[in-house]
Amino acid sequence: MIDPRCVRLTIVGCSGSFPGPDSPASCYLVEAEGFRLLIDLGSGAVGALQRYTSLYEIDAVCVSHLHADHCLDLCDYSVARRFAPDGPKPPIPVYGPPQTALRIGRALGADPVTDARPGADPLNGITELFSFATLAEGTMEIGPLRVTGAHMNHPVETFGFRLEHAGRSLAYSADTGQSDALVDLARDADVLLCEASFTEPADTGGPALPEGLHLTGRQAGQHAARAGVGQLVLTHLVPWNDESRTLDEAGQAFGGPLSLAAAGLGFTLE
Ligand SMILES: [Zn+2]
Ligand SMILES: [Zn+2]
Repeated sequence: MIDPRCVRLTIVGCSGSFPGPDSPASCYLVEAEGFRLLIDLGSGAVGALQRYTSLYEIDAVCVSHLHADHCLDLCDYSVARRFAPDGPKPPIPVYGPPQTALRIGRALGADPVTDARPGADPLNGITELFSFATLAEGTMEIGPLRVTGAHMNHPVETFGFRLEHAGRSLAYSADTGQSDALVDLARDADVLLCEASFTEPADTGGPALPEGLHLTGRQAGQHAARAGVGQLVLTHLVPWNDESRTLDEAGQAFGGPLSLAAAGLGFTLE
């Protein structure tokens, strides 16, 4: 019997910037009291998601930002909902930055069914499948979860999230460069799911890393240490990086439990 206070996290996809050979792009399934929330639905995630849950048992989706590796599988997911064998599924809430519906509707393109209707819908019917809600900084209730969004440090409007339930807490950095807001968001969280897209430049003087884009493993560790989190899970791992190096870097800055995300890994916050 699962303790109803538990929060369950499943890594559906953790590949940074584009899918890798062993993982879709960003997608995390968070379950509490039978409620299923997806955090991001990046490229390739709808396929792997079906290993962990029925496509039609998702209750809500939160999209951190509108880069393709975090949102684009909303297109494929809308097709699965529209053409379900027993008829179209009712809309579920999708929380995202401004213009999420427009972006996904345009990416979806005109459909042979929606096309045939008089009066072209510029959103290509996407709002029939999802009830879009615009994210803002602050706290809201999504099902049994208390969800706090905060702006991260990334070239487009990006939200990191803190999810809380029955005294358990999970923070997610989304994509970000160095960010005091991330430290505040993750303060004392049980688990910080933190991006580590970059590796530190070699001492031999490689090019400097761009600012306001992503974190290195070392920087992820520093953010985790400053926030005092219980556990750090490194994610948004870019396929061309050496993961062991990312892990080593983070371990030099964070002394607590530390691991690399991998598709299919599950964590129970109990
Ligand atoms: Zn990304
Ligand atoms: Zn991004």
